[in-house]
Amino acid sequence: MGRRSKAGDVPFARSAALYERARGVIAGGVTSAVRAGARPHPLYFERGRGPYLWDVDGNRYVDFVLGYGPLILGHAPPVLRRALSRQAGRGLTFGSQHRLEVEVAAILASVVPGAERTILSTTGTEAAMVAVRVARALTGRRLILKFEGHYHGWSDALFVATAFDPARSGPADRPAAVPGTEGLARGAIDDVIVATWNDLPRVRALFAERGPEIAAVIAEPLLVNGGVIPPEPGFLEALRQLTRARGAVLIFDEVITGFRLALGGAQQYYGVTADLAVFAKAMAGGVSMSAVTGSREVLDPVAAGRPAHLGTFNGNPLAAAAAVATLRHLAEGAEQIYPRLHALGERLADGLRSAAPALTVRQVGPIVNTAIGEPAIVRNVRDRASADVAAHARFVEALLRHGVHTTPRGLWYLSTAHGEEEVDLAVAAARAAIAEGT
Ligand code: PMP
Repeated sequence: MGRRSKAGDVPFARSAALYERARGVIAGGVTSAVRAGARPHPLYFERGRGPYLWDVDGNRYVDFVLGYGPLILGHAPPVLRRALSRQAGRGLTFGSQHRLEVEVAAILASVVPGAERTILSTTGTEAAMVAVRVARALTGRRLILKFEGHYHGWSDALFVATAFDPARSGPADRPAAVPGTEGLARGAIDDVIVATWNDLPRVRALFAERGPEIAAVIAEPLLVNGGVIPPEPGFLEALRQLTRARGAVLIFDEVITGFRLALGGAQQYYGVTADLAVFAKAMAGGVSMSAVTGSREVLDPVAAGRPAHLGTFNGNPLAAAAAVATLRHLAEGAEQIYPRLHALGERLADGLRSAAPALTVRQVGPIVNTAIGEPAIVRNVRDRASADVAAHARFVEALLRHGVHTTPRGLWYLSTAHGEEEVDLAVAAARAAIAEGT
């Protein structure tokens, strides 16, 4: 696989030159903050096909970043190329209604548990934001209970307590609402209360203290952004029961888990149905589209125009064409696709464990997390405090030189375009990277 046979090669010269140029014209050099963390520096890519990605220096990689999750069918899948070019010839956006948006919502109603009604938007951030607004409008309450280390996009309302920072996050039994960035509205922080993941006593205590003010509990039902940490048995069920009993809205953020853990997402996989579920990423296979689904009762206030939902690009035909093609493809092949994705996830996780015993590997279906220096069992992001982030970043850089592209912080995604061959290439690359002493 190309020219990365020796650590120490510098095969990224064109990327380096582009990055240099970018820093002169793009604030920060990259267009989303997480991308700045790439080593040796952000790379520039030319094209992707199936499980492979080529950079501007001509290096080929097996891609496990997959656009940070959307590319459930791999790069440039034929089914999407066809749907997009057909729609591109008919018009890109109408600012009005069209058949495909109805089709998207109808498919969601048939595959997503509890999806009697759908709201369409453009990004995961927007969809999570509108879900919270719906919850506040419905309940007339203002507090959002979220979990530390869970990420629900970067809106003011939710970009809070997304990581554990020993200096600022407070004690485990009373985690602080640490702003995720400078520049947040103070009110946004005041309206968020925080629990550590899997800490049911804390959730119960918060309901005991502030129950009548809690509009919603929001969670990634499988904590992916915090490092693939599953809910403990009974935890999601307890959230379901508590929110129902206390009149709060339960929101599952399925932006990553949607159409990935199962066709019906984490709600299907774990057998717990929230009041609202938020989707984006894989929904349109790599084109930007998001959705909030839920019951008629919960989404009726939107129908009545109480919480506003707006957006120039909402439900646009190009994105809708991509969503219909992706979701139909997944729905028609679900019986083969999901068992295969899960088996590949297991193969990757087992392979990485045996290739590199220094790695801690967690995996649920086609989502894998690697780390160095962590305990074998973690219940929440605080338990990961011992992680050697720099050593893991060196490992990921070494992987790059062996033709494997994955995320610096340790998330690996699989697609239907990946096969055992690509997984085995990644395992061999990990073995080589570790042998070189990363
Ligand atoms: N929720 C979750 C669970 C996510 O992982 C992300 C994106 N990483 C978002 C929301 C925000 O989605 P977007 O980047 O499309 O705004």
